Amino acid sequence: MHYFSYKGDDLHAEDVRFEELGREYGTPLYVYSKRTLLRHMRAYKKAFGGGGGIVSFALKANSNGAILRLLASEGAGADVVSGGELFRALKAGIPAGKTVYAGVGKTADEISYALKKNILMFNVESDEELEKINRVAGLAGRRAPVALRVNPDIDPMTHPYISTGLEKNKFGLPIKDALEFYVRALKMKNIEIIGVHEHIGSQLTELAPFREALEKVLTLIDRLRDSGIKLKYLDLGGGLGIRYDGEKPPGPGTLAKNLLPLLKDRGLTVIVEPGRSIAGNAGVLLTRCLYTKKTARKRFAIVDAGMNDLIRPALYGSYHEIIPVRRNRRARMKMDVVGPICESGDFLAADRFMPGVKAGELLCVLGAGAYGFSMSSNYNSRPHPAEVMVDGGRHWLIRKRGTYRDLIRSELVGSEL
Ligand SMILES: *Cc1c(COP(=O)(O)O)cnc(C)c1O
Repeated sequence: MHYFSYKGDDLHAEDVRFEELGREYGTPLYVYSKRTLLRHMRAYKKAFGGGGGIVSFALKANSNGAILRLLASEGAGADVVSGGELFRALKAGIPAGKTVYAGVGKTADEISYALKKNILMFNVESDEELEKINRVAGLAGRRAPVALRVNPDIDPMTHPYISTGLEKNKFGLPIKDALEFYVRALKMKNIEIIGVHEHIGSQLTELAPFREALEKVLTLIDRLRDSGIKLKYLDLGGGLGIRYDGEKPPGPGTLAKNLLPLLKDRGLTVIVEPGRSIAGNAGVLLTRCLYTKKTARKRFAIVDAGMNDLIRPALYGSYHEIIPVRRNRRARMKMDVVGPICESGDFLAADRFMPGVKAGELLCVLGAGAYGFSMSSNYNSRPHPAEVMVDGGRHWLIRKRGTYRDLIRSELVGSEL
């Protein structure tokens, strides 16, 4: 559910017309609905926040400080996968004590930084990483709180690039080796074992993979307990899907109702790490059509947002609904909506049936709040788009549009040549 809809013939973000936003801030422009973000965050809190449960927002979905600050004010923790994300989370006021750190390639510097900041736990993905954490913690005179990220070998039935819990994926440790891992970890002086972590993929629209993965992890937890290893935290990861193209994913409440009863009275504190299902439908990308063009084979709408602004269609072949900001009754036709980037993979929609588009018209790319701006780049030396927050009838900039100066800011062009 989100708050982007037509009132009359004008598409609105909450109570604000997109026409107005386009005029005031220019395009391409990311627009977020505060009401939608709050609604999603609160749904997660209600579903999983009981009994000390922690909702750790996955920063990689969207790491704008204003959005993080909003979620922090609602009690969110953070799921980070780099030192940079940890920095952003802390800057936005997310407590380190609600921050978990995953990722297969943590460097010694990143580990040391996270230790210094007292994060809740490292979600460890390999033996060698565990050894490194042990060593870095020893040097710092600290014990590192650790959960093992297990790979439960479950097919999440999603796009192969965003499935993470299959045996062939690089993430986590095979669940069958987990017991030995914990026994080794237990012997390490500077490691404190406190939890277990799983995250099987993204854009999951079925409950079954979540359940199957959890059942496997619970079997492990029980075996660990029988071996005298008692865990405090169960981190269920993120991965809940959203509606891009008619999908009907369960909401956080349904997910909780299906998973939490399985935990019975094991005394575990639950952590969830939603990213897409909080931010995805809370943001759109506003873009203006620059030109239309018709060839013998195809019809193109060339817009001012490209794959550098929103890479999901190019990277995963993802579907994003694209709708006009001013509703019209033009005939539907098949077209490609493409950006200005010099790549044939630069499209926002391919072979899409939609109402005819005219140059100068504003279009809205829906479901762009997650893995949109956060995956954007300056490719083709295009400055980053601006980002705007809408709250009822108010709106304000939460990121200035990038400038040409920004493009060269860090370059060192000396006289050595
Ligand atoms: C990407 C990621 C998430 C968030 O996934 P969503 O599908 O956006 O909810 C959570 N945890 C980990 C470890 C991740 O890598």
